[in-house]
Amino acid sequence: MKIKKLNTAPAIMLTLYNTLSKEKEALPDAERIKLFVCGPTVYDYAHIGHARTYIFFDFFAKYLRSQGYDVFYLQNITDIDDKIIKRAVEENKQPLEFAKFFTQAYKDDMRSLGIEMTSDKNEAKREGKILYAAATAFMPEIIDQVQRLIEKGYAYRIDGDGWYFDISKDADYGKLSGRNTLQAEDAVSRIDEAVGKRNKGDFCLWKFSKSGEPSWKSGIGDGRPGWHIEDTAISEKFFGPQYDIHGGGIDLKFPHHEAEIAQQESASGKKPFVKIWMHTGALLVDGKKMSKSLGNFITIRAFMEKYPPEVLRWMTLMHNYRMPLDYTEKMAEDARTNLNTIRRFLWKLEFNLKQETFKTKSVLLDDYDYSKFDAFIDDDMNTPEALGFVFKALNDANERLSQLDENALRRAIDFIKKVLKLFGVNADYPEIPQEIKELAEEMEQCRVNKQFEHSNRLREKINALGYKVENTNTPFEPFIYPG
Ligand code: AMP
Repeated sequence: MKIKKLNTAPAIMLTLYNTLSKEKEALPDAERIKLFVCGPTVYDYAHIGHARTYIFFDFFAKYLRSQGYDVFYLQNITDIDDKIIKRAVEENKQPLEFAKFFTQAYKDDMRSLGIEMTSDKNEAKREGKILYAAATAFMPEIIDQVQRLIEKGYAYRIDGDGWYFDISKDADYGKLSGRNTLQAEDAVSRIDEAVGKRNKGDFCLWKFSKSGEPSWKSGIGDGRPGWHIEDTAISEKFFGPQYDIHGGGIDLKFPHHEAEIAQQESASGKKPFVKIWMHTGALLVDGKKMSKSLGNFITIRAFMEKYPPEVLRWMTLMHNYRMPLDYTEKMAEDARTNLNTIRRFLWKLEFNLKQETFKTKSVLLDDYDYSKFDAFIDDDMNTPEALGFVFKALNDANERLSQLDENALRRAIDFIKKVLKLFGVNADYPEIPQEIKELAEEMEQCRVNKQFEHSNRLREKINALGYKVENTNTPFEPFIYPG
């Protein structure tokens, strides 16, 4: 069935930086944008570096949908790998059970960040969720792809070890990272180490079974997959040999994504494997990449003990997705303040609308151009510039507040709500506790009676309870908000 774009074609042209061409390019013209993002290797809880990458791509998919595109977003989960086996053995656990536990933890963490995943293709399509595919559930596809590489002469066997990809057979090898086959030797990870390789940078496609390690029966020898092959086997199953956009953190550009290109283009003979390669910059700690292996990470769970999940979303999107980002606690504090400022202004506008204060205002012709926001996002997802525009628009609205008529108020409210929804944060005015409302009423009474000292004491009490009160021109109807 042909799936149509939801609305008419978008008016503004979205451009994306393509790591492959090193240029900004137009979003591929497709009925349905096929987006694949590398999922995690599940041997520990996900950290806020992972969150940076996944929040960004979630935002990207949601933005495309909001612009009328149909998006098929697929993510693999590496649930069999050297690192998983090593850690499971250290903790005296069975590797596949160990990986299952952290797969569930990852899905739970994503859900708490507002990122919904499913293993049901129809549900993914119907509800705009990520379709996740754990490697161990796709062994026939993985084995089939290795088999084809063997048949086409790209793979060779090392007895007692496994099947390896011969990078010298692929004339295009290195086109993503700019490294040639000689420079590829630092691609070698533990699984790629073997005696008898043709080139140092050759990587493992299939590792023959070793006692105590999980393995799968196959005609190419019982064993388990190499890291790179699972992604291409999974994307080929759902998307075919070519698709639109591949995403992941910049650390995966080499060797992982280079290997993916080599595998898929060699297996199918079709080029390009992927039209646009998008990479997020690393989240750093003291200049070093936050990573499970370095142990310098803050889990998403630990972060959320201090801050609501939307602060992590906001913090991520306040910064340009391609730039490295050195995490500090101040960054989270700034994000919280920034988000609260926008929300408070929204609630104030809503308050003014409800109070019908606009009826007493002089009418201003409202032609404020809120569409500039989209233009910033359309320039390679420039969220910090777009947020800069939001703040400018809010300042302008604030300055014109005494002149805004009903239409202008509604337009400003709709704009801020749209932004908050797109960024995946809650825009609802919170329920104010009865105790606070009563204190605010008493405070107002004191103010009207000119008992200013007592009124100030009550204000301090309200502040200490985590709320603020702004007096308005209408007595007994103050604007109360958390803060
Ligand atoms: P891993 O589980 O290490 O394979 O990582 C899964 C995804 O998260 C990949 O796309 C990584 O590039 C990304 N990622 C891991 N650590 C970071 C980090 N510190 N900053 C940004 N992205 C990261």
